[in-house]
Amino acid sequence: MQVIILGSGNPLPHPDRAGPSTLVRTSAGDLLFDCGRGVLMRAGAVGSGASALRALLLTHLHSDHITDLNDIYTMRWVVSFQPNPLPVYGPVGTAEVVRAMEAMLEPDIGYRIAHHDDLNWRPVADVTEVDQGVILEEGAVRVTAGPTDHAPVRPTVGYRVDEGERSVVIAGDTVPCAGLDELCDGADVLVHTVVRRDLIEPLGLPRLTDVLDYHSAVPDAAETAARNGVGTLLLTHLVPPPAPGTEQEWIDQAQAKFDGKIVLATDLLTLEVGD
Ligand SMILES: [Zn+2]
Repeated sequence: MQVIILGSGNPLPHPDRAGPSTLVRTSAGDLLFDCGRGVLMRAGAVGSGASALRALLLTHLHSDHITDLNDIYTMRWVVSFQPNPLPVYGPVGTAEVVRAMEAMLEPDIGYRIAHHDDLNWRPVADVTEVDQGVILEEGAVRVTAGPTDHAPVRPTVGYRVDEGERSVVIAGDTVPCAGLDELCDGADVLVHTVVRRDLIEPLGLPRLTDVLDYHSAVPDAAETAARNGVGTLLLTHLVPPPAPGTEQEWIDQAQAKFDGKIVLATDLLTLEVGD
């Protein structure tokens, strides 16, 4: 099993960091967690793409995590030679968002069906709203969802992928919480979104300091990893994006709370799970 960071960025556009998105490659296929800005450009760099996905799994419905949902939905449709519904898993509310996206795309769907003689079916998303428990099981691969805490964004979920003895957790945006602890128990890899409280607080900008109360700071994520016996902590969705030369500060802050392996995400960073 492999974890590939497709986008390590945050809501603000960045030239080198696409929006939040993580690909987990399993024997059951490619599982894509969230679909931020530029996700399919990054997927193209690792030989994946919309039509190759086994499933799209959303942690929550904040815009930066679903920016390119419409791109995945449309590209899967137009490059497939037979109907190829997109399995989408997400928290309650996902079906409504997908329906609204479909409404937005209605003119485009009409144009393409009218123009291509061999495209006579509509795109389809098979939406499953999830809260907790096993949501997908195929061969040696099992995906479990669990509640996270990103209030006032509700509900939100994290995911754990187990393949044989290997496991990876996708936390999404959350503060430390029991639901995440349960998912993380003994995991090989924890992919956790983080903010730097020490850099944001001094700026004194309410629009920025507001983000602190519903995200984990680097030490918070490290404590979650330590408390649950995680092997590797992979920090992503970095707020603010690390200034060149400051990467070690992030590692040091995490290392103060967690003595496992710590990795700071860049786009296309790839981890073999269990190595
Ligand atoms: Zn969020």
